[in-house]
Amino acid sequence: MMKHKYGFTALLLLGLTLGTVLLAGILQSHAGRAARQEVLVVTSFYPVYIAAANVAGDCPGIRVQNLSEPQTGCLHDFQLTPEDMKLLSSADLFLVNGAGMESFLSDVKEAYPSLAIVETAKDLSISEDNGHVWMSIPRYRAQVAAIAEAICGAAPKFEREARANADAYDEMLLGLQTQQEAIAGATKGERIVSLHEAYAYLAADYGLEVVYELNLDEERQVGAKEVADALDAVRTKGARVILAEDVYGRALAETIQKEADVKVYYPDTLVRGDYAKDSYIDGMQNTINLLKEAFGE
Ligand SMILES: [Zn+2]
Repeated sequence: MMKHKYGFTALLLLGLTLGTVLLAGILQSHAGRAARQEVLVVTSFYPVYIAAANVAGDCPGIRVQNLSEPQTGCLHDFQLTPEDMKLLSSADLFLVNGAGMESFLSDVKEAYPSLAIVETAKDLSISEDNGHVWMSIPRYRAQVAAIAEAICGAAPKFEREARANADAYDEMLLGLQTQQEAIAGATKGERIVSLHEAYAYLAADYGLEVVYELNLDEERQVGAKEVADALDAVRTKGARVILAEDVYGRALAETIQKEADVKVYYPDTLVRGDYAKDSYIDGMQNTINLLKEAFGE
């Protein structure tokens, strides 16, 4: 009985010590940022980070930090770690995609009820619960605009710089959208097989008709029936092109390609990278080039 009691006291002391260390760390990071007059913007994952990093630019008063790792990919099965919670505890603003992408959002809201959270896809038209909205250039531009608003709200001192950065970035995105619209004449009505849900937004923007879709990602594996269905869609529904995600769709795409006369392309879903600021621009440019090649423009 005594032993248990001491054990409990020891645990309590350990808990208190850890709590104090954590609290000290949080207070210190708050104090540090206050001294530097820095606004901490935390983003949930890659495409939101890239957009925010472009808006913040070289502004010394805004620090953008990503919650997940650059190679995490989508956040469908993402679990928050204690480090993530610690980072969020010192954030001034938390930028997320929304549209169901961050399933942990209710936990964050519960833990930090006063944290400003902006769901950048909130006002966009979402097709069939598909959260991969950044794959549509016009929608991504709207996300960037929402991010610019949020950052200006959190860091009014740097509003002019942030708006100028956002405008310059939007100019580049508009350039991509113009290229996309220019080839839509050649892509419109073309039939494809899609092996990732993210391509639904590409298909919509380019007027492609998806005759068969499988959503192959970290949560979904391919069964024999799906191989047969995908092959059947290529053979009987007139799809000349398969769009597949490089990590999860390659095996199935290559299997189909052995059996049928079809071209396979791997458009970037833009959820992984090395944090290069132009990674969205470069990834989308590459997709435009792929689709030009696929549909002969
Ligand atoms: Zn995804």
